[in-house]
Amino acid sequence: MAGVTNSYAGDGRYPTSYYAASRNILRTPVKLEGHVETDICVVGAGYTGLSTAIHLAEKGYKVAVVEGAQVGWGASGRNGGQIVNGLNASLSTIQNRYGEDAARFIGGLVQEGGRIIRRLVSQYRIDCDLKSGNIYAAYTGAHMKELEAKQALWRRYGMDDHLLLDREALRKLVNSEAYCGGMLDISGGHMHPLNLVLGEARAFESLGGVIYEMSPVTRVDHRAARPTVYTREGEVSARIVVLCGNAYLGDAVPELVSRVMPVSTQMITTAPLGEELADMLIPSDMCVEDVRYILDYFRLSADKRMIFGGGTVYGGTDPADVVAKLRPNLEKVFPRLKGVTIDYAWSGNFALSFTRVPQMGRIGSNTYFAHGYSGHGVTGSHLFGRTLAEAIDGDQSRFDMFEKLPWYPFPGGRMFRAQYSTIGSWWYSFKDMVGW
Ligand SMILES: Cc1cc2nc3c(=O)[nH]c(=O)nc-3n(C[C@H](O)[C@H](O)[C@H](O)COP(=O)(O)OP(=O)(O)OC[C@H]3O[C@@H](n4cnc5c(N)ncnc54)[C@H](O)[C@@H]3O)c2cc1C
Repeated sequence: MAGVTNSYAGDGRYPTSYYAASRNILRTPVKLEGHVETDICVVGAGYTGLSTAIHLAEKGYKVAVVEGAQVGWGASGRNGGQIVNGLNASLSTIQNRYGEDAARFIGGLVQEGGRIIRRLVSQYRIDCDLKSGNIYAAYTGAHMKELEAKQALWRRYGMDDHLLLDREALRKLVNSEAYCGGMLDISGGHMHPLNLVLGEARAFESLGGVIYEMSPVTRVDHRAARPTVYTREGEVSARIVVLCGNAYLGDAVPELVSRVMPVSTQMITTAPLGEELADMLIPSDMCVEDVRYILDYFRLSADKRMIFGGGTVYGGTDPADVVAKLRPNLEKVFPRLKGVTIDYAWSGNFALSFTRVPQMGRIGSNTYFAHGYSGHGVTGSHLFGRTLAEAIDGDQSRFDMFEKLPWYPFPGGRMFRAQYSTIGSWWYSFKDMVGW
């Protein structure tokens, strides 16, 4: 797999992940064939696409989703399952870069994504092992200061769900000697990501929506009065097209290529650990991520496996040996898991934007897009889906705020952007290593 960019090469089947092996909805994909007319055509059946589609279908629109592989084949069916409030870019970065108004606007929204997920799970009875609470773990005093500043800033913007934890308090929630403290966000949480997105697909279909799978879009004509989406065997003509292909869109829409860069991150899942050991390692059963630039993120599955992620590869290629890459990190956090059997290993791409702030916008007057959650997109994608649906339904206020945030292409262009970003990340990794 080394050096191969993730794509639909192959037959669009799910990667050999723990999630694919434990999914609780099996679908029979229907391909797009011939000519279809609809109100709204959404490209991509991940969280962004399905959140957009559900919110529109709930308002009575006729919506078709076109997916190149299968529902949740992309990041939405492979991720850490961590419901983390906020964006990858911190509120302080947003405040410094875009000003107080933008920070206040975004600060007011960051918990909405989690609320959308909970509403969908409850209203459509989605079985995805939803749990509460996420923990940010600190390795150093500098990390703790960062968390204190984060808590203070979030309070300023009206969010008061964070509790700072000293070493002992943290150990009661996550039993690892690696950390000196942390912060708990009681409004975060975690879930089985593929079962969530599959449940959302079923919810959308229950509202009359149609999903075409195994149908990669090769071209979008967004200049026509009715934009049209083309696949090898069919086409959808719609009043509005919404592009939600995120890191996997590739070259299908040339106007979006320079806006984001695919970055791969990896995950492993152990064999079941048994109740006793699992509860000893993470007594709170919350999910955890540390606060380094290249971070570890982990949690327990419902059947008490450790699901552990980390590492990034700029450009979106898969490392040759995911287990060799992640096992040392896992064993550093939990020495008790030395030599543990790893049952599953996989890789997936998220879309990185240069500013780490996700983007929403339009190409042509009737073709919308949203992408670039930069590795923290479980909540953002749900929020952006709702915001796109609002805009299409006539309330452009929140869409306009995001659309006007400036974005920058990656330095180095298509050819060298991965190398430039790797060099940049070495600096941050070095800072992590020395604890600055
Ligand atoms: C391994 C991993 C771990 C992560 N962990 C976390 C986490 O714990 N918490 C968190 O907040 N975020 C996490 N993320 C990020 C998060 O998963 C994503 O930000 C989010 O899922 C993005 O959703 P999306 O719908 O925009 O994109 P995706 O889920 O990638 O969906 C895009 C879909 O569009 C389809 N598509 C693309 N191009 C075409 C085309 N031409 N034609 C038809 N279909 C097309 C793809 O097949 C795909 O199904 C992680 C990401 C990865 C890869």
